[in-house]
Amino acid sequence: MTDRTFRFQFFQDRHDNIVRDEGAYCFTWAELIELFGKHQPTVNKDTALFIAGSFDTGSTAIPATRKHYGAGGKLVAEAPILDAGMRRQAGRLAANVRTVEGVVLDSDQGWCLADAKVELQGLTHLGYTSYSHQQQDESGQSKGDRFRVFIPFSTPCPVDEWVLRRQAVTELFPKIDHSTTALARGFYIPSCPPGSEALADVWSDTGDWLDWRDLDRRSEPAIVVPVDLKRLTPKGTGKVVWESFDAVTFMRDRGLYIRQSSGFKHDVVCPNHAGHSGQVTAGSVLYAEPGHWPTFYCSHSHCADFNFWEHFKALLGPGWMADYCLREPEIDIATLVPANAGRQPFSLSNKKHV
Ligand SMILES: [Zn+2]
Repeated sequence: MTDRTFRFQFFQDRHDNIVRDEGAYCFTWAELIELFGKHQPTVNKDTALFIAGSFDTGSTAIPATRKHYGAGGKLVAEAPILDAGMRRQAGRLAANVRTVEGVVLDSDQGWCLADAKVELQGLTHLGYTSYSHQQQDESGQSKGDRFRVFIPFSTPCPVDEWVLRRQAVTELFPKIDHSTTALARGFYIPSCPPGSEALADVWSDTGDWLDWRDLDRRSEPAIVVPVDLKRLTPKGTGKVVWESFDAVTFMRDRGLYIRQSSGFKHDVVCPNHAGHSGQVTAGSVLYAEPGHWPTFYCSHSHCADFNFWEHFKALLGPGWMADYCLREPEIDIATLVPANAGRQPFSLSNKKHV
């Protein structure tokens, strides 16, 4: 057993993209087994989802946005969703994930439930069949075994470490689709169609704990900072905090800054002004509230589809923001204490089929 607790974030349904403080829970292993121990019969498959991990919901969190469409379905704006107190709310975004609590495997085909149970024996995990398990498709064919497995880590995994190791997860569980390791992907809690309760299955095992440090570092981080940018960084070394991007200084350094117009609003030259009628440089603003993701807006119709971020990424390369971001020290892995210190790491290869 472990006395560690697990941080889970819940969402109302698949359209819910807001990380709410009231959706964040902390469970013991025993509580998790109890929570996932029973399927809820529901007609609507789109029920509550969970993410096994923790999110940044503070002032540096990237806000959840809603797209606004005009005539003809044309996207006219994407604005932050505000709560009753007119505050921005953190988005269900990979950039806001802080720690990952374990691996969630989502098996839709090709992995027999009975085999999975045998192969996972001895590894601490909990599993349950998903909504479509053994249901029939339109032609009357069975969809076969469909299930989900949560394999907790012995200690929470910092998000940067997870990104480096998730390739190893897909190699450890080859019957699982790679998308199961995507950050900020939600998974439905146990549910089944009404009347199918007898087909639903849950199980768990408490044995060895999967230690994320046993997973090899394979893949590259999602955002690769070019070496020359790293060397020139004026604000020290360590993890780049992308959300701290100083857009005002960046625009000033590029000669695109005009003046502060009010509060956090700044008049700037549109980077795309060569396409404005008469090539006028007026009519663009930058909204840069400290601790919030900055917003660029150009009023010229030519720029209706202009993407400020993609523009500079294409112009300067993927690490273009790094010099204008604050940095924080990396989490020191050596200070984290594993729950199963001294034990052999779990491997599927030493499990035999019956
Ligand atoms: Zn413009």
